[in-house]
Amino acid sequence: MRSKIVAGNWKMNKNLAETEALLTELAAKLPDTQAEVMVAPTFVNLAAAVRTLDSSVIEVIAQNMHFAESGAYTGEISADMLLNIGIDTVIIGHSERRAYFGETDEILAKKVKAALAKNMRVMFCFGEELDDRKSDNHFKVVESQLKNALFSLEASDWGKIVLAYEPVWAIGTGETASPEQAQEMHAFIRKTITEAYDASIANNVSILYGGSVKPANAVEIFGKPDVDGGLIGGASLVADDFVAIIKAI
Ligand code: PGA
Repeated sequence: MRSKIVAGNWKMNKNLAETEALLTELAAKLPDTQAEVMVAPTFVNLAAAVRTLDSSVIEVIAQNMHFAESGAYTGEISADMLLNIGIDTVIIGHSERRAYFGETDEILAKKVKAALAKNMRVMFCFGEELDDRKSDNHFKVVESQLKNALFSLEASDWGKIVLAYEPVWAIGTGETASPEQAQEMHAFIRKTITEAYDASIANNVSILYGGSVKPANAVEIFGKPDVDGGLIGGASLVADDFVAIIKAI
């Protein structure tokens, strides 16, 4: 059985005091849930976040990492550095990393391999842009993103992969894919993985939806059979909204 996951991607938001305050509020308000709950604060606050959530089931995860072990990569963070402070899940391939920081499929494939080599769990993000959808290329784009970054992995690696389908046109725009559009793409993703590997891998991988998930639309989106949870940006910055979204799963 694949797990249900609700993860908050805080992006470049919240200073140290705000991080500790939001996490403390979240931990206090966390509802009873079967879902795994994760938060991804910014790098400088990760260690403090781990300490703040010490006695909570909420997992702290990273927004990114570099593929090299260590060395002359100014401004970068390695897998070992994350593991060393108690973080073993990392988001890779967020559309903002692709769009603003030049992360190509090739770079992302290296990052995925580097994380898996350290036995980390990878939350791999991908999704089409508006033009791709308008020109009816969204399935092709998603298939090629998956293929280029993930389909050279061993079957045994897939236990450590979580997928997050995030149509770029729905991220931070207030625009959400309809529950039907999400379901259609998630089913396509499972079909693509079945073809590349097998049905058991496809059925066991959690596929999250991301892109303007809010308390008002979460129940409907999470209600779709191939949607296993969400990667939440803006709404994860407000404890009550994030809690409402967790309750929706
Ligand atoms: P959003 O961001 O919920 O603010 O649209 C989602 C994401 O980028 O993960």
